[in-house]
Amino acid sequence: MSFLRRLFGGGARSGDDRGLHLYIKCQRCGAPVHVRLDLNNDLSADEYDDTAADGYHVIKEVMDDRCFRIMRAELRFDNRRREISREIEGGAFISPEEYEELRAAKAGPRV
Ligand SMILES: [Zn+2]
Repeated sequence: MSFLRRLFGGGARSGDDRGLHLYIKCQRCGAPVHVRLDLNNDLSADEYDDTAADGYHVIKEVMDDRCFRIMRAELRFDNRRREISREIEGGAFISPEEYEELRAAKAGPRV
């Protein structure tokens, strides 16, 4: 039992790496795309006159590897870099589970 726990149990998580993982599905061909944003480096500060940054935003262009269409994701964050909202053009946000399923389906048809 303890052997299994070591295999699947805790300790594997590497903690907060300041990364935000986006899972996106192309609207045209349905291909799944995974993008990692670095919350320390990828965000741009919103500036309001000369006051301190009130929040952050990031615009990320993402391309799938099937139809090579560009999807444009835009995310907004508060001044503590917590996500407030996300939008995407040309695709849709999906869950990590959905992403894995789509990838598995793409990997090869099982007959
Ligand atoms: Zn596509």
